[in-house]
Amino acid sequence: MTRPAHTSQHTHAIEHISAALADRGLDLEQLAKNMRARSRDADTTGQISGPPWRPDDVQALNMNLLPTRHGGCPALQPLVAQATLMAYLGEADASLALALPGPGLAMPPIVALASAEQQVQFFRQFQSGTPRWGAFAITEPDCGSDATAMRSSARKTDRGWVLNGTKCFITNGARADHVVTFASVNRRLGRYGIRAFLVERDTPGFSVARIERMSGLRASQLAVLSYTDCEVPDGALLARGDEKPLDDAFSGAQRSWDYFRPLLSAVMVGTCRRVRDDLANWFDAGGKPADNRQRVASVEACLLDLDRQITAAWLLCHCTAWKADRGLTTSMDSSMTKAFASRMAARVTRAALELAGIDGIAACPSLEQGYRDAKAFDIMEGTGELQRLMIARAAQRSTSLPWDIAQPA
Ligand SMILES: Cc1cc2nc3c(=O)[nH]c(=O)nc-3n(C[C@H](O)[C@H](O)[C@H](O)COP(=O)(O)OP(=O)(O)OC[C@H]3O[C@@H](n4cnc5c(N)ncnc54)[C@H](O)[C@@H]3O)c2cc1C
Repeated sequence: MTRPAHTSQHTHAIEHISAALADRGLDLEQLAKNMRARSRDADTTGQISGPPWRPDDVQALNMNLLPTRHGGCPALQPLVAQATLMAYLGEADASLALALPGPGLAMPPIVALASAEQQVQFFRQFQSGTPRWGAFAITEPDCGSDATAMRSSARKTDRGWVLNGTKCFITNGARADHVVTFASVNRRLGRYGIRAFLVERDTPGFSVARIERMSGLRASQLAVLSYTDCEVPDGALLARGDEKPLDDAFSGAQRSWDYFRPLLSAVMVGTCRRVRDDLANWFDAGGKPADNRQRVASVEACLLDLDRQITAAWLLCHCTAWKADRGLTTSMDSSMTKAFASRMAARVTRAALELAGIDGIAACPSLEQGYRDAKAFDIMEGTGELQRLMIARAAQRSTSLPWDIAQPA
């Protein structure tokens, strides 16, 4: 069968990253192998069994997303490098890639909203050989797509702030040591009433109500978090203390979405590469297409079509990350990337299932798992419908064509 087009381009970039991480004690290739070996178990149990990392890997994993000034790896600062890494890890297992230790989705709002001192305190914990997780909590049971309508409240007291509310679908929420939590000081102000707080796991009044049963991305353990008269000190309010107004905390959430949408899309690219490769290997080993009238040439054509779609999604991830690395605003690009990648993942995984049929699905569990992961992926970080809505709105506002690449000022 045709070998996938991604192999040669991908190898060089990942070798560079792998060498940089090896200098920090992380054996990336072994980590990916271990993740692959534990993929089925993680999908069945929703746990990070094993775990896939060695004790020596932990510090580099913890620090993977850290800015250089807080000890992060220089080779991983460009978003293009992060996307390349996430595609590589997504190829091993998407949900484990999202469940690896590190600040995760909490990193961008901390960089955008926290004071220098708060940043030092937050990032310091990740410079450790013990696995640490961060989480980002904005979604609530009654509002997900329209996050500005949130009901969680923050009330000022003499001693600090009291938080009340419920957050749901929080990635790594049950494992997180710290959760960046968004709550409103005045619901009538909409997005301008929203503030961000850094809540420690052991804070009285904060608890993990449950972990959701998921159809896909199970090891990322989406949690429901409860805040009942949860009292946090003044220092928990993320406040840069410079010219940035406090009432713009929602922009920190936007920062997180802009940053992570191309990375999550890269994870899906990796997942689809694996699905495509497992399917091709199964045909190579004598597997027969579900429709036995299909000849070898037409199976090859189908695989090439999958490659075409996967490559297009990867190029979009790469382009968005490239623009972000040059300081350009990428909200619309990030939405486009995620909208495209989630449709691609749904189409590719479904086509793979149809091509493989019952025998192929039984022989290659990654096909069915990839299909379920793709569904969860379409919802997280804003559903496909919402991404398309945002693209349409941005295109309406924009005076230039959306795909113009302006030079940074
Ligand atoms: C795997 C996964 C990980 C997640 N991780 C996190 C996390 O770490 N932190 C966090 O805060 N949240 C997280 N979420 C939550 C996620 O961001 C929300 O589920 C998502 O924003 C959708 O919100 P909702 O579930 O309330 O759906 P709703 O907003 O109720 O939407 C329901 C349906 O209506 C459609 N819809 C809604 N509004 C419109 C509109 N205006 N126009 C057209 N269609 C519309 C939606 O597309 C969807 O199909 C995660 C979700 C998943 C699945």
